[in-house]
Amino acid sequence: AAKTAGRNTYRLFDPKMQACISERAALDADLRLALSEQQLRLYFQKQVSHDGHTVGAEVLLRWQHPQRGLVLPDQFIPLAEDSGQIVAIGAWLLLEACQQLKLWQSDPQHSTLTLAVNVSAGQFRQSDFVEQVKHALQTTGAHADHLKLELTESTALDNVDDTISKMNALKTLGVRFAIDDFGTGQSSLSYLTQLPLDQIKIDQSFVRHIGRRPQDTLIVQTIIGMAHNLGMEVIAEGVETQAQCDFLVKHDCLLFQGYLFGRPVPLEDFNLNAADK
Ligand code: C2E
Ligand code: MG
Ligand code: MG
Ligand code: MG
Repeated sequence: AAKTAGRNTYRLFDPKMQACISERAALDADLRLALSEQQLRLYFQKQVSHDGHTVGAEVLLRWQHPQRGLVLPDQFIPLAEDSGQIVAIGAWLLLEACQQLKLWQSDPQHSTLTLAVNVSAGQFRQSDFVEQVKHALQTTGAHADHLKLELTESTALDNVDDTISKMNALKTLGVRFAIDDFGTGQSSLSYLTQLPLDQIKIDQSFVRHIGRRPQDTLIVQTIIGMAHNLGMEVIAEGVETQAQCDFLVKHDCLLFQGYLFGRPVPLEDFNLNAADK
């Protein structure tokens, strides 16, 4: 085959890699239609306090693909980041999330809930990001103080000055900020402490090994202590077992998100009083 392909043809990729690249290209092309064809869905995963109350939810995006079924964000958010489509998707998501927040705020049973929204790097770095958030709040009438934006360490620290000025502008409105997947980045702690953060989310990779891997157990304890010393809230992600939950409570982490309390579900299955299955 190499011979018939001619002497100037180089095989840069093995067939598996090639298939992977065409797969990406196909998904990328399909994603261009996802917004206009209304294939993106908001899922909600509850956030629970140690006394059993649901205090809020995180919005997690799903893509209802016409042929592939439900596609998870790890398979299309990075694509959307690379192609720039994340800007349109992110703006749409903010509007949808604020619309839901407004509905909750008008309903006594749900009015205290905080809604957390993931913000990607490409979206946050837009020069008009602050305006985007203001627009979403104004057009929906949602109160800013129950909107929480989640940034990853790499997004937040990519341009610290820009990050701080955007955060401060939004905090003036009442918007709150969480740092997502905390502990997984290569970030400098001293930079992180400069950010006006309200909450630290302990990454699930550490929570998973609580009580089983001493170094991860120690990391969890250290993050909790650090958050408290900095006057920030701390929430554990990926809490799956009662043993993990007990350890967290014992070490003063009193907020949880994870399958133990509920999976991400469409709004119609989001139930404040029972575990979402
Ligand atoms: P994340 O923001 O750290 O979200 C938490 C992820 O952990 C979610 O995965 C959630 O389903 C999963 N999870 C929650 N509890 C448990 C548990 O107990 N056990 C295990 N094994 N997993 C748990 P998901 O929904 O697949 O999202 C993955 C990532 O994709 C998110 O991580 C976030 O970085 C990104 N993402 C999701 N939705 C959006 C979005 O609307 N915008 C942006 N920019 N990124 C998003
Ligand atoms: Mg998140
Ligand atoms: Mg996370
Ligand atoms: Mg993550």
